[in-house]
Amino acid sequence: MSEEEKKRKEKESSAGEEKGKFIIERRYVDDSRIIEPKKLELGGIDMSGRWGTLVLPRTLEDFDTEIYRDVEKLPRGGNIGKCWQCGNCTAVCPVAHAHSEFNPRYLIHIVKMGYTSEIKKHHEAVYLCSGCGLCSAACPKGVDPQGVMIAMSIAFKAHESELTE
Ligand code: SF4
Ligand code: SF4
Repeated sequence: MSEEEKKRKEKESSAGEEKGKFIIERRYVDDSRIIEPKKLELGGIDMSGRWGTLVLPRTLEDFDTEIYRDVEKLPRGGNIGKCWQCGNCTAVCPVAHAHSEFNPRYLIHIVKMGYTSEIKKHHEAVYLCSGCGLCSAACPKGVDPQGVMIAMSIAFKAHESELTE
């Protein structure tokens, strides 16, 4: 292993003290699902550090697509079903860069899938949207995520009592 490679591994292993540091969108992964072996060798290759991070699958048991259907019916929410989760909206969103709890791609995902427990945890973030429209300009599928954020905020308000119980 080269000196440079050794230094990189050392840096990564000390940075890794913070659990799951290298996981993208870490906020959505519970600590209990992350496995970070201090030392991992596979087929003679040292996979320690960030490459050895494993994320266990999650099990969600409560599904309800009523909010999704409501969003679809609202003005500017009708194209939510076209989203293919590319993440362009989140990548260009200035609010998402400043506030990790706001992620238009993820909000669209959990509403489309009807993940009730996740919607309960994250729905309030939708009100952070500034309405700048950069996401709608960047969306390759014509979803109009800016409009979907507005439709979602209306639908979440209508379902507030269930979402906050
Ligand atoms: S940019 Fe459009 S297609 Fe891509 S994740 Fe956002 S809403 Fe979905
Ligand atoms: S309209 Fe909202 S979701 Fe879209 S880029 Fe602007 S702040 Fe982000």
